[in-house]
Amino acid sequence: MATDPVCGMKVSEGTGLSSEYEGTRYYFCSPFCKDSFEKNPQRFIELLIKKAFWEAESKIKIAYFSMEIGVDSQIPTYSGGLGILAGDTLKACADMRIPVIGITLLYRKGYFYQELDGEGNQQELPVSWNPENYLRSLAETTEVNIEGRNVKVGVWLYTIEGVTGFKVPVLFLDTNVEANTPEDKAISDYLYGGDERYRLSQEIVLGVGGIRMLERLGHHNVQRYHMNEGHASLLILELLRKSKTDEVADWNYDLVRHSCVFTTHTPVPAGHDKFNYQLVKDVAGESFPADMLHMLGGSNILNMTLLALNMSHYVNGVAKRHGEISREMFPSYPIDSITNGVHSYTWVCDSFRSLYDEYVPGWQVDSSSLRYCLGIAKEKIWEAHMEAKGCLINHINQMTNVRLNCETMTIGFARRATLYKRADMLFTDLQKLRQISQKAGGLQLVFAGKAHPKDLSGKELIRKIVAASQQLGLDVPIVYLPNYEMDMSKLLVSGVDLWLNTPRKPMEASGTSGMKAAHNGVPSLSVLDGWWLEGHIEGVTGWSIGSTTPHSNEDSIEAAELYAKLEEVILPLYYKDRDKWIDVMRYAIAFNASFFNTHRMVQQYTVNAYL
Ligand SMILES: *Cc1c(COP(=O)(O)O)cnc(C)c1O
Repeated sequence: MATDPVCGMKVSEGTGLSSEYEGTRYYFCSPFCKDSFEKNPQRFIELLIKKAFWEAESKIKIAYFSMEIGVDSQIPTYSGGLGILAGDTLKACADMRIPVIGITLLYRKGYFYQELDGEGNQQELPVSWNPENYLRSLAETTEVNIEGRNVKVGVWLYTIEGVTGFKVPVLFLDTNVEANTPEDKAISDYLYGGDERYRLSQEIVLGVGGIRMLERLGHHNVQRYHMNEGHASLLILELLRKSKTDEVADWNYDLVRHSCVFTTHTPVPAGHDKFNYQLVKDVAGESFPADMLHMLGGSNILNMTLLALNMSHYVNGVAKRHGEISREMFPSYPIDSITNGVHSYTWVCDSFRSLYDEYVPGWQVDSSSLRYCLGIAKEKIWEAHMEAKGCLINHINQMTNVRLNCETMTIGFARRATLYKRADMLFTDLQKLRQISQKAGGLQLVFAGKAHPKDLSGKELIRKIVAASQQLGLDVPIVYLPNYEMDMSKLLVSGVDLWLNTPRKPMEASGTSGMKAAHNGVPSLSVLDGWWLEGHIEGVTGWSIGSTTPHSNEDSIEAAELYAKLEEVILPLYYKDRDKWIDVMRYAIAFNASFFNTHRMVQQYTVNAYL
């Protein structure tokens, strides 16, 4: 098939309508186009050349940088919500034909593999995996300077194919290349392992190495650099360096700012990545004047968030409340908010996929159509749920020596084990919990989550839950599943009856596991923080604990409210009015899955930040 140079339509070469110009034969769909062409061939040839340019130009427009990206359970390059959000974002871009390329590091030893002993003591083992099984190693390399040494950076490619067939490349940078010393080879080994020096080295590889690798691969036309959290902020310095076209030219701040987009995820100042300037000088050298770094990144310490805030044309928090909190933290910056989402197809379990395929055709291409789930019969919703619950309960009964059953109300709680998430709130009063369960007709609990190796209080939380499970015994069966990862997450968010979330406000910037649950018809019982302030309609999409006021946390009052909601509202509804319970399930899908997804989220990024 040829392309008509006048109207751009495909034409068969056999139509006989053709014309030769400067040694090339052109084909036409109609005498009209042939006549137009022959009157002024030069004009159409120029248009053809221009068109080839736009196509090339639109090939890669956005580079999305993230310290962690979770695209698949088998690729252990994520630790939690931040990385999975990055993966879900890129998957939505692929579905929606948004021209983006992802950049992260290849952690050969992953985050870690979690084992738990009988007391709930966490053991961290390296993850062994073969990148060759999932990624393609590319021949290109680039270099970055770390502590005065030239460190070679290699790259692996993973391709995400969207439901529309559009492909999004993800680059995994890797310092484990032959030319490097053993020490440099190890720079990209562990996600969030090592000390500050190790972390800063990794951030140089990500930010500086990432920009250089894009160039090496021929992506010269990137128009937006999206920093998913401050870990990637050093890319700004590399862009500034490139903007200084010769010795006398100035850094082009405006040009760089115009191309940078920053998403902050951390609602407390202590959570922002910071490096002291002596370390920066030791590790990154002195290619930038100290005064300039101080101006952009803070006067006493290099604050990666500040660097990104100063040099991005668009900045956002990840939920409405988180936007407000971020504006309080950084009053002089215009910080918008775009509420997180999850990638619907990834997080819907098999039984609900079949249900949606049948009743909401097209839901994979357009998550907002999940609103039509209101029309699905309640028995069908319940059937799909019981199938998912069966999968979870079977898995638990096979993998552990706890015996759960499918008829008992099951509550799930799985997220990183860290203090602010307050996984132990349910165990404030064991006797009360026992009574509630007995009175209602039974309750069983499923937990999972890794504590960061250095987070001692997070590890203590796991021990506390395991201890509670021993004390409660058969009265309230509890299981703590080891090594929480994406596949397990899907099994949990779809297989429990209720998803519990009890963070200390305003620490949960967004939270996404409750969105995954909603996609599988599982309602949330949650503190009013992060996304739940937007997704919660009491008794309709789920239930709340505590007030909407940020910074106000009374552990004991919130625990009492948690018990009261379970005892007076939730358990009676589950056991005595199944019909109304399924209404809540259906509303969770229709109101929340249709909105808290990455299709909607990426549309907002495209309109507000990329265009
Ligand atoms: C979704 C997910 C998270 C994030 O859950 P939050 O509710 O945001 O804490 C963390 N880890 C895994 C494995 C997940 O699938």
